[in-house]
Amino acid sequence: MITANYHTHSTFCDGSDTPREIVGEALKLGMTHLGFSGHMDVGVYMKFDDYLAEIKKLQREYRDNIEILCGVELDNLYDPKYSENVDYVIGSTHYLDVDPERIFSVDYKPEAVVQLCKEFFGGDYYKLCKAYYELEAKIIDKFPCTFIGHFDLVTKFNYVLHFVDETDRRYLAPAYEAMDHLVSKGVMFEVNTGQSLRGKLYPSIPLLRHLKEIGGEIIISSDAHKATDLLRKFDMAVQVAKECGFDHTNYLTMKRGKPESIQIEI
Ligand SMILES: [Zn+2]
Ligand SMILES: [Zn+2]
Repeated sequence: MITANYHTHSTFCDGSDTPREIVGEALKLGMTHLGFSGHMDVGVYMKFDDYLAEIKKLQREYRDNIEILCGVELDNLYDPKYSENVDYVIGSTHYLDVDPERIFSVDYKPEAVVQLCKEFFGGDYYKLCKAYYELEAKIIDKFPCTFIGHFDLVTKFNYVLHFVDETDRRYLAPAYEAMDHLVSKGVMFEVNTGQSLRGKLYPSIPLLRHLKEIGGEIIISSDAHKATDLLRKFDMAVQVAKECGFDHTNYLTMKRGKPESIQIEI
């Protein structure tokens, strides 16, 4: 059983429970490691210093019961300075940088993605996805990332819009290229169960298979926005990861002020 999650949102950003309530639930679930990863992005951000202070307080208070890590989910287009003073960084791409005056989210609502595609990509979703992966590949040049969040978030609304065939070469080639680059820089990838109620995991199966082929490493995480979701559908993530050839996932633990990954057999 996986007893760690490093992608957790609280009331400091867009989650529904306080960090203290989340720690309480983690202890009930028998978790050994809990990473908080408050959002810092153009759409959702938090009072960063208050967040750091609260998580560090809980870290000390519960150190004999659970290892609490203080991380951040930092967006590709946000200020790299927020990668400092945290234990680890999730590098996530939620927006496209097509217009310096406006933000264009790929995961807010389907109509917004339709509009974005029409306005900037002539209605060609393969071009939109290519632009997304090109931007995502650059994240590692902006700030150090411990792992990549929801690598193929750009496909979030594909289940309603059916805009790309996720097994088509036109879609996969730019995604593989971004993944190859990020793996060559030593970044891990999360297997994110945030959309698992729709039967979807990030990354998709073809992408996860590719990740395994090129020697990438995974961290299973829930992208929890409420405490009861901390380990949601981890059984499904383990099963899919195994089907894609993985025999281990990773936990993070702090060693001399740095996050170290430990391989955990699945
Ligand atoms: Zn995210
Ligand atoms: Zn998140």
